[in-house]
Amino acid sequence: MNIIIFGPPGAGKGTQAKNLVEKLKSFQVSTGDMLRDEIKKDTEIGKKIINHMNEGKFVEDEIVNKLLEKIIFDKEKKNKLIFDGYPRTVNQAKNLENLLNKSNQKLDFIFFLNVKKETIIKRIEKRKILENRSDDESNTILKRYDIYMDKTKPVLDYYSSKKEFHEIDGNLQINQISEKMLGILNV
Ligand code: AMP
Repeated sequence: MNIIIFGPPGAGKGTQAKNLVEKLKSFQVSTGDMLRDEIKKDTEIGKKIINHMNEGKFVEDEIVNKLLEKIIFDKEKKNKLIFDGYPRTVNQAKNLENLLNKSNQKLDFIFFLNVKKETIIKRIEKRKILENRSDDESNTILKRYDIYMDKTKPVLDYYSSKKEFHEIDGNLQINQISEKMLGILNV
């Protein structure tokens, strides 16, 4: 099964992805983690993206799409992909479809965690304390939300009519969200 979990920053995508990875013995594909790793290792990509990331802006499609390619063609991960934080633009969504087609895979479930701005702000403030992420400053949070609304909304429109699409109330407790997702996945 290949699954997308998407929604605004702080919607709980990472938490839910980790839970599914454990249950389904699959692999989490977090472009945010991959990009943070490039920065940590101080690679060419890392140097290029550090400012954008810290300001809460999207990294260029070209860079993110390239990072993704390796994973899609990894035989060990075939049909065991849980996408968290990708795609974020329609360009990325089309790229994903294309790569999945080329590797004889498809998307099985698309979960949209719909969450209110107030819930997100509360959660990210908590995460800021727990994880000390440099892009979790309060003004960055609001910027990231606005960028999300502006750029990821078209992704929602792109997916919402597909039969694989499921909207989930992301304001619920973590375990309630997990239960709903597992119910839909029938596992
Ligand atoms: P996340 O960990 O998913 O919240 O992502 C953290 C940051 O990484 C975002 O604010 C963006 O700067 C960058 N990022 C992660 N995934 C993507 C993506 N698919 N496209 C563009 N930028 C991304």
